[in-house]
Amino acid sequence: MGEYEGMAASTIEECDRLLDMINTMLMISKTESGVNKLSREEIDLAGLVREACELFEPTAEDKKVSLSCDAPTRSHFIGDTRMIQRMLSNLIDNAIKYTPSGRTVSISLSENNEREAVITVKDTGVGISPIDLPRIFERFYRCDQSRSKPGVGLGLSLARAIARAHSGDIVAMSTLNQGSTFTITLPKSPPLRA
Ligand code: ADP
Repeated sequence: MGEYEGMAASTIEECDRLLDMINTMLMISKTESGVNKLSREEIDLAGLVREACELFEPTAEDKKVSLSCDAPTRSHFIGDTRMIQRMLSNLIDNAIKYTPSGRTVSISLSENNEREAVITVKDTGVGISPIDLPRIFERFYRCDQSRSKPGVGLGLSLARAIARAHSGDIVAMSTLNQGSTFTITLPKSPPLRA
């Protein structure tokens, strides 16, 4: 490839990355403000969690990270399928990204009571320091050790906006060099802010 073709290709790649970032920022703002109307679909949340795990199986395998999924047969839930898929993808993607080869990532879905579903995404990776932990959900915040990894620091902001738009939330617990656990709680039939 000639020098100019190479430059053009990397400019196009950079533009794509910027466009992606702008679209994600827009999505976060719209989701937080309620401009983005969420659909109220009858979902089998357990199926959705299993599908998300299956989707990431090849990535985990490539990295030699063992991915396990523990979800009940069915879990009835009302919400926006695409948004929930996006939230799960962001968390599972991070868990694999920040876990070294040979370690494990486990996803589980349980029901706290009749009304609440709890999804945990637990990794045994690099962990997050107590200084960074309160800031990881902020837009563009990236911990120092992540700067060499791909990403712009918007994934968790969007994931939390989606959980909150479903009247739920996400909290993170972590120990540096031991791993992190992200816990998503979602009311099974939320009064959707839409
Ligand atoms: P990024 O695109 O950088 O992954 P996110 O918003 O998804 O952006 O995450 C923000 C920051 O939080 C990351 O840059 C990383 O430093 C930290 N982080 C998120 N998930 C994990 C995890 N599972 N283990 C360790 N650090 C994490």
